[in-house]
Amino acid sequence: MAQEYDLVILGGGTGGYVAAIRASQLGLKTAIVEKGKLGGTCLHKGCIPSKALLRSAEIYKTAKNSEEYGVFANDVTVNFAKVQERKMKIVDTLHRGVEQLMKKGKIDVYQGIGRILGPSIFSPLPGTISVEMNSGAENEMLIPKNVIIATGSRPRPLPGLEIDGEYVLTSDEALELTAIPKSVIIVGGGVIGIEWASMLSDFGAEVTVLEYEDRIIPTEDKEVSKEMQRLMKKKGIKIITKAKVLPETLSKDGEVSILAEVNGANREFIAERLLVSVGRQANIEGLGLENTDIQVDRGHIVTNLYYQTKESHIYAIGDVIGGLQLAHVASHEGIIAVEHMSENKPSPLDYDLVSKCIYSNPEAASVGLTEEQAVQKGHKVKVGKFSFRAVGKALVFGEADGFVKIVADTVTDDILGVHMIGPHVTDMISEAGLAMVLDAVPWEIAHTIHPHPTLSEAIGEAALAVDGRALHG
Ligand SMILES: Cc1cc2nc3c(=O)[nH]c(=O)nc-3n(C[C@H](O)[C@H](O)[C@H](O)COP(=O)(O)OP(=O)(O)OC[C@H]3O[C@@H](n4cnc5c(N)ncnc54)[C@H](O)[C@@H]3O)c2cc1C
Repeated sequence: MAQEYDLVILGGGTGGYVAAIRASQLGLKTAIVEKGKLGGTCLHKGCIPSKALLRSAEIYKTAKNSEEYGVFANDVTVNFAKVQERKMKIVDTLHRGVEQLMKKGKIDVYQGIGRILGPSIFSPLPGTISVEMNSGAENEMLIPKNVIIATGSRPRPLPGLEIDGEYVLTSDEALELTAIPKSVIIVGGGVIGIEWASMLSDFGAEVTVLEYEDRIIPTEDKEVSKEMQRLMKKKGIKIITKAKVLPETLSKDGEVSILAEVNGANREFIAERLLVSVGRQANIEGLGLENTDIQVDRGHIVTNLYYQTKESHIYAIGDVIGGLQLAHVASHEGIIAVEHMSENKPSPLDYDLVSKCIYSNPEAASVGLTEEQAVQKGHKVKVGKFSFRAVGKALVFGEADGFVKIVADTVTDDILGVHMIGPHVTDMISEAGLAMVLDAVPWEIAHTIHPHPTLSEAIGEAALAVDGRALHG
């Protein structure tokens, strides 16, 4: 039987389920079609499970080095089954939470594969959704006034490096490891690659990162990249930049061996496992896009500032539209799409004000333009930088590597970007985000009293440093 809705959302990941909650708040009769589990990549294969593993790795490393703190613990070992069990418990708890939220919002959830149909007896416009139910029951037919496509993404394959789940893995398979490999080659030194490198190294694996560009985390500010590279090397991670992996040379015989061209010469790399981490690919296949006028550009669905596709009643949000593929971006895009279709006149998202985080050890976080981007855009910049070495709380923590860097415009005094690397910076970046949303200038951050001793003092000092007034540096 056909069911009518104000809104049907394809995909119940972070983007989709948050959009559903906002729609329910605005009184829209809403359904989600989800072929896997509510929570999507972020909850089941991304943000949450990876951070749970990172936390266990951090605890292990801290426990091993606990003598530095005057605490003596004998025979510190990792029980990886327990590590995985803890990860699953966290994921399950949050998954149940999302299910509850759907119930609370009276949001119908269809477990199955959704597909957009063209004009039909149900509607003169494309957008009727046929759901192939996971249960095997007859297809459901959903007739919505609006649709949101929030089908997310999956690991991008590297042609020639077929994923076999044993030797060659993506982050999806790596999350299910049953033991820490002795050694791992990570192809790709972007955010996910560096988080895995840091975690596996802290668990005791020998890690080699092969990065094609001339620096790891190449989208971050150059100084942050450089510091991250230094600190990863300090951990014992081998980082090979300007490395062109030659997939055709892959061999798997008890271990993985592969050649990479580095500075004009071929070098061989050998490890127990190889992790491919070269980006994400949007899930656009099988959605019935051919039944619509929806445009796709370089593998991503094209939308306007309110996430409308060429079919103005069909929106698309999250990883499937490319750009910044982050959970908090997906959810904000979902909220804007829902408010737009409900005629709530939302403001478009300013992507320059989105905070980006890397949860390696040490962490990195940023908002706004890098120094290089600011200069390229024609700004005359002034920079304030403050090291965690001069922050009491960082020394107390025993994690004093890294810095806070503020890039500001010399003429207008506007803050253009804030970049941090060091302890707990992912929890501190929101102050910089708020400052930029409120159009604050550096002295206003400096004028805000940062309690002592806290790590956030580094932000206040970096703001003073913009005008050469840092007190402790
Ligand atoms: C290892 C890793 C770590 C990450 N860490 C972070 C982090 O720390 N912070 C951060 O912000 N981001 C992180 N991300 C990125 C984040 O997970 C994504 O940006 C986010 O999940 C995107 O949300 P989404 O709703 O667009 O898509 P997804 O979360 O991918 O959800 C899409 C959903 O659609 C479903 N679906 C697809 N096709 C259909 C269909 N035809 N019918 C029905 N259902 C369908 C899928 O099953 C899936 O559940 C990480 C990603 C990875 C891989």
